[in-house]
Amino acid sequence: MAFPANRLRRLRINSLVRSRLAETEVSSRQLILPLFVRPGRGLRTPISSMPGQFQWSLDRLIPEIQALVRRGLRSVLLFGIPSRKDNRASEAYAAQGIIQQAVRAMKKKFPDLLVITDLCFCEYTPHGHCGIIRNGHLDNDATLGLIAKTAIAQARAGADIIAPSGMIDGMVKTIRQALDRQGFQNTLIMSYAAKYASSFYGPFREAADCAPRFGNRKSYQMNPANAEEALREAGMDIDEGADIIMIKPALAYLDIIRRVRETYHVPVAAYNVSGEYAMVKAAGQNGWMDDKTVAREILTSIRRAGADLIITYHAKELL
Ligand SMILES: [Zn+2]
Repeated sequence: MAFPANRLRRLRINSLVRSRLAETEVSSRQLILPLFVRPGRGLRTPISSMPGQFQWSLDRLIPEIQALVRRGLRSVLLFGIPSRKDNRASEAYAAQGIIQQAVRAMKKKFPDLLVITDLCFCEYTPHGHCGIIRNGHLDNDATLGLIAKTAIAQARAGADIIAPSGMIDGMVKTIRQALDRQGFQNTLIMSYAAKYASSFYGPFREAADCAPRFGNRKSYQMNPANAEEALREAGMDIDEGADIIMIKPALAYLDIIRRVRETYHVPVAAYNVSGEYAMVKAAGQNGWMDDKTVAREILTSIRRAGADLIITYHAKELL
């Protein structure tokens, strides 16, 4: 039946009606806050391109998390900035590596907090690439050995979910086998399945001190022009044992989130990346947009596209 019997504006008539009929919700349960941890004491170093975000030493981070947990924080994704970088990325899998220390401290202090660890080597190598470099190229299969070692070190420290982000072929299978062999059958894998070679990562490279010293990451991260390939990547990771599939970045890739959601019946995560955050914050600081409401709208769109979980620097303000 057409107008006037049907008036769609009735569905929006006031906030009582609007809020009851909202199809999509963003709640603290779905948000994952990324955090940058480094060795040392008393550190809370601002990241200039990401207002409101910091590099933390553990002694300063724990009270911060405590306050956020009280406000409803449920999940964190940890990135480590080691004191020492080398070509074997040793700090990534050392028992006393910064991530392992951070996981142990957090699981002890906040047993109800879901702790996810990023697994990559770009922060841990002097060249800033995501694995072992041979003859100027990232050596896929040599990198798998480091991935297995690091996954075990993170699981042993108590990580709930391991999140490999290097776009190395076979990384999920390698991690699943390594974890199972060591008795970590219940540790989940959240795979960065479709991670694009994106310029939206710019601010992150300052945050994690991981800009490549030569070349770029286009031989392992995906071409932004490709969607079919993203489905193939996701399918392979699921076959290899990924529990959760991640799409990164989120905002310029909402179609990928939607297609992965419709093709596979697994939990889908989306990473609302540093550049997406920086754009909103910069516009807010200039008075060009209301950054708080824009952030909420963006996160709603990511949920609407089909993401079950959103990794976002806005998590703190949203809580
Ligand atoms: Zn990396």
